[in-house]
Formats: sequence, C-alpha cells, structure tokens
Amino acid sequence: MSFLPFTRPWIDEATIASVAEVLRSGWIASGPKVEAFEAALAHYCGERPVRSFSSGTAALEVALRVAGIGPGDEVITTPISWVATSNVILQVGAKPVFVDIDPRTRNIDLDRVEAAITPATRALMPVFLAGLPVDMDRLYDIARRHALRVIEDAAQAFGSRHRGRRIGAIGDLVAFSFQANKNVTCAEGGALVLASQAEAAFAEKWRLQGVVRSGEDGMEVDLPGGKSNLTDVAAAIGLGQLARLEAFTARRAQLARRYFERFERSLECELPPEDFENSNWHMFQVVLPPRATRAAFIAAMRAQGIGIGVHYPAIHRFELYQRLGFREGQFPQAERIGAAIATLPLFPAMQDADVDRVCEAARRVLGR
Ligand SMILES: *Cc1c(COP(=O)(O)O)cnc(C)c1O
Repeated sequence: MSFLPFTRPWIDEATIASVAEVLRSGWIASGPKVEAFEAALAHYCGERPVRSFSSGTAALEVALRVAGIGPGDEVITTPISWVATSNVILQVGAKPVFVDIDPRTRNIDLDRVEAAITPATRALMPVFLAGLPVDMDRLYDIARRHALRVIEDAAQAFGSRHRGRRIGAIGDLVAFSFQANKNVTCAEGGALVLASQAEAAFAEKWRLQGVVRSGEDGMEVDLPGGKSNLTDVAAAIGLGQLARLEAFTARRAQLARRYFERFERSLECELPPEDFENSNWHMFQVVLPPRATRAAFIAAMRAQGIGIGVHYPAIHRFELYQRLGFREGQFPQAERIGAAIATLPLFPAMQDADVDRVCEAARRVLGR
C-alpha cells in the first residue's frame, strides 16, 4: 500500500499547461497573471482591495507596516500557530503578547484577550487554526471598544466563512497564504486584503523597495520597502487553483465528516469542533490522550504507511521566545495541546478508504 502523506497539493493538467505558457511568454515575474490573480481574489473578497505577495509571511509583515505598528507597540496573538505569526511582530520591532488558547477551538481564547490589553496594545492578531475562524462578532467588538486594528492571520482560512460570509470579504486586514500545504496554493505566495485603496497603495510600496513610478521616467522612494512580489509563474498556479476552490472545500468537508463517523471515540483523543458552517477543513487535528506520546504515535503511524503532521508546538517555548522572557507554565492550554496535537491526513485527492485506513491504524496504535 502506498504511503499516505498528511497533505498533498493537487495541480491539474490545465494549470500545468498555463504555467508552461507563462514560461514561454517572456514575462515570468509580476505581470498580467498577477494582475488577473489579484482581480480574482478581490472579486472573491467582495471587491475589497487585495494585493498579492511572495508569501503569507510577507503579507502579514506588510499588514503590520500598514497598521503603523513598530517599536514600543504590542500585538496580541496566540501561542499556537506557525511561528511566522509572532516572528513578523518581532520583525517590525513590536512585542508579541500571547494569550492562551481555548482548548475546544484551539484558537486564541477571546475571554482572555481584554485582560491582556495595555496602553501599548495596537492590534489583535488571531489565527484561524486549521481553517476554523474565531467568533468574529466578539473579536471585532473587542477591537472596536479598544480602538485596535485587527490583522487576521487567515493563512489557513481561504475558503472559510463567518455566518455565511467569506473570510476576506469581511473584517479589517486579512492575510492569506498560498504556500504548498494550504487549501489553495501558488507553490509559495500570499495575499493581503486591505481596508482602503490608500492602504493598498502603501502596501505596494512595502512590497517593492518603496518605489513609486510616474510618467515615462519618474521614480520616487520614501520608505524602505522589501522585495516580496508574487511571480506570474506562481499566479498562474493560483488562478488554476481558485477555479477549484469550491470543489476542494466540499471534498475536504466530506472527508472530515467521514473522520467524525469512523474515528474511534474510546481512544480518548480530543476531536476538533464539528463546524461544517464555517471551517474550510484545512486540517483534521486530534489531541492525543495523556497516556500516548506523540513521537511514538508518529513513528507507529509511519510504520503503517501514514504521515502525521505537527501543527504546532507552542511558540513561547522556542529558544528565541524564552530569551525574550516567556516562560514555561504561562499558557497551560497551549503547552498541553502544542505537545499532543497531531494532524491526520486530509487533502482533496484522498479517497474515503484512506480515511478508514487512518482510523484503523489509529485504533491499532492507540488502542489498549
Ligand atoms: C502558512 C502560515 C503562515 C505563513 O505563510 P507562508 O506563505 O508560509 O509564509 C502564517 N501563519 C499561519 C497560521 C500559517 O499556517
């Protein structure tokens, strides 16, 4: 039986042909495909301003720049995310302030956010882990009452919804990732939804060396921008993927439903919330029971031909963050879940029988 990875991108032949066409066209960096991809993303997001980037990380960093966040500022975020989320806060010279997670959703615990707000707080940066949004009404109510910007790390939430509306079509600054493992991929890429056309123009400067061109030969630079533009090669992949977003999301939901039907409850794993209204089912993650060790589980599942992912260890326990003064014991839910969470295989090209195979293997490995 072939090895089942925890995820795998699905690039169709038409998309591969469109990439070849870009390569033959003579225009391979940012050009007409990037323009078309941004227009398609803006359309998806209810015609809000959207700019593409070479990564989700770059989109998040530029979001912080657009919000004017820098040294002396604090940004409230979650310790359970890909480390990019808090690294970008450090990159702009600001201070990440972690708030523990809700063990049920594994997202930032909104009940604890207000206690972490200080006069230096400038923004809230929630992460929608596995594609499950936080309660957006509560999030934006807190932001409004304290006059804070919101930077949604929606890297995993392209295709997710809130009360029937698309993530990206609502909210303040919304960052997506199109990295290879995400539901829609450009191989590497990202996008930022902005609050105004003026902010979009500012984001463009941060994306490319702070340059503004005018007339035939005019050029001005007024800020130290970086280099994080998307390429037409990547945008062509993204356009091919966008056309399949709905089918991908629907298939992911079917597979998630099958996990809920087949996963043995007596194994005492904590399953994710059964949210078929809002989640895009970017991942299906279980928290292993205390009697199991994750490394042993991963090794035993691999021996059964099944790949298990780890998303994510608690960020505040990394050496860099310990040096910044964070301590073990500060965020007990994040520490417990970060040490025991395991990502089961889930991607649109999977078969129903693959889910059954994962559930069977888990029963053999974790059963008493
Ligand atoms: C993938 C991811 C990022 C970073 O996106 P890249 O495109 O890899 O730079 C940031 N935050 C979260 C939660 C992610 O999953």
